[in-house]
Amino acid sequence: MAIDPEFEQNRETVDEHEGHDVWGPVDEPEELGIHGTHVAVDFDICIADGACLEDCPVDVFEWVDSPDHPESEIKADPTHEAQCIDCMLCVDVCPVDAIDVDAGRAGRT
Ligand code: SF4
Repeated sequence: MAIDPEFEQNRETVDEHEGHDVWGPVDEPEELGIHGTHVAVDFDICIADGACLEDCPVDVFEWVDSPDHPESEIKADPTHEAQCIDCMLCVDVCPVDAIDVDAGRAGRT
């Protein structure tokens, strides 16, 4: 299952983390929601492959710990989403389609 590109309509912000929004539902440690808005990562799909961290030309992502999450114990957090240049590399390389990037969502939150 890929990230829902319509998450803005289908979810609500429930928290803020490192300057970006978190879209619920969240029920830690098993359910972590979507982190980010312009650059959105579904933490419940992320398997910590790491290709996004390696390939992002402007270093948007940082690892964050997610102990006891069923998919992986670390997640690619879009900590610096404001730096995104919309190259779409991370979307293309993510093996589980956990990332959605939409410049139209930038600055809305
Ligand atoms: S779209 Fe490009 S610049 Fe933006 S987060 Fe993904 S890899 Fe980085």
